[in-house]
Amino acid sequence: MMKPLCQKGLDKDEFSALIKQVHEIGKTVILPAAADVDSEARFPKEGIDALKEAKLLSAYVPADLGGMELNITQLAKVCEILGQYCGSTAMVYAMHQVLVACLVHHSLGDGYFRRYLKELVEEQRLIASATTEVGISGDLRSSICAVNVEGDRFTLNKQAPVISYGEDADDLMVTCRRSEDASAGDQLHVLLKKGDFELEHTFSWDTMGFRGTCSDGYNITSSGHVQQIFPEPFSEILSEAMHPSAHILWGSLWIGIATDAVNKARSYVRSAARKNPEGAQVSSLRLAEVATTLQEMRHNMYVSVKNYQEILEAGDSAAISNFGFAIQINNLKLSCSELMVDIVGRSLLICGLSGYRNDSEYSLSRHIRDSYGAALMVNNDRIRGHNATMLTVHREG
Ligand SMILES: Cc1cc2nc3c(=O)[nH]c(=O)nc-3n(C[C@H](O)[C@H](O)[C@H](O)COP(=O)(O)OP(=O)(O)OC[C@H]3O[C@@H](n4cnc5c(N)ncnc54)[C@H](O)[C@@H]3O)c2cc1C
Repeated sequence: MMKPLCQKGLDKDEFSALIKQVHEIGKTVILPAAADVDSEARFPKEGIDALKEAKLLSAYVPADLGGMELNITQLAKVCEILGQYCGSTAMVYAMHQVLVACLVHHSLGDGYFRRYLKELVEEQRLIASATTEVGISGDLRSSICAVNVEGDRFTLNKQAPVISYGEDADDLMVTCRRSEDASAGDQLHVLLKKGDFELEHTFSWDTMGFRGTCSDGYNITSSGHVQQIFPEPFSEILSEAMHPSAHILWGSLWIGIATDAVNKARSYVRSAARKNPEGAQVSSLRLAEVATTLQEMRHNMYVSVKNYQEILEAGDSAAISNFGFAIQINNLKLSCSELMVDIVGRSLLICGLSGYRNDSEYSLSRHIRDSYGAALMVNNDRIRGHNATMLTVHREG
């Protein structure tokens, strides 16, 4: 059950200083590595190490456990900025923070998880997620694998076709059925720490975009102490923390990718106007159009993140379980993932061949390839299907 959790957040000056620091890491560490991370499909180690150095992996952890205690609006802004420099680095960061949000909102009453969060702060541990399963695919609300409890120990094995940065993560959070005789939807969430699990590699990640997320497939074999099993059902963790924070933080980094594409288009138009003021008139108009769409994307985010932050501060479980909120958060993901493709595509039209080249300062190749991955991160058709079902009973207004 959700408890009010008013993440204080940093004050205006402290947060401005943090944003400056994130931009500095972006410019000096993340951006210089971005092309290599993409072409080699390798983990963005230097970027994640720099974020660890700045203690940003525990940015959402409450201050009494040693974290920075950003609120969700501030965390979303950090993801957006990272997205401007490298989509894969930003995605690794955002996916980790979604899991931190599950811990923060659903485990603070428990001694084991509180100690774990302190360790996360001290050691800047990186957590990966295994929800997708062979045979279930992207249906988050079903599992085939089950946790087997005997005494105070458990075993858990899962065939996971996609675990982003599985090999570089310290810990894993895995969904499964409550027991061998539970139904597919009766799920729990389990924290596996390094040493509790082994990964047998099954699928490689040679994809169009988000190549640096290194989302290879693995068979997980694990065992641990029952205290590592979240006390609350996964359905509650999903609706109150994972679902809203994932769509907000992913959407924010997608805004970052779209912003960088528009910035490239703006530089291109400015440079073209200097060379030939007459010729740049059409692309200036296109720039004005695409800037409107980017603003739309930002406004969608602003409304949803504000709503979620107010709900968190009030600990308003009723508002969370209301279909209206779930539909809003789903619509945020649908629109952000689709607008990003639109914005990056229109920026390409403005930059023309210079945007199409891989070796140009205006290249949009990585942005375009990354942008098509967004609709699959929980397939948009699956999300639309859920909305269609909820809308048959939910009245607007
Ligand atoms: C960059 C990236 C990183 C990822 N990282 C992770 C990770 O760390 N951990 C993890 O567990 N997963 C991860 N995933 C997987 C992700 O969460 C989804 O499970 C996966 O992308 C869904 O793939 P899919 O679209 O092929 O599968 P599905 O969702 O199964 O869809 C396949 C097809 O079936 C259709 N379909 C099936 N069922 C329905 C339905 N009920 N309603 C409507 N349409 C349906 C879809 O429209 C689609 O055409 C990642 C994915 C990406 C792209």
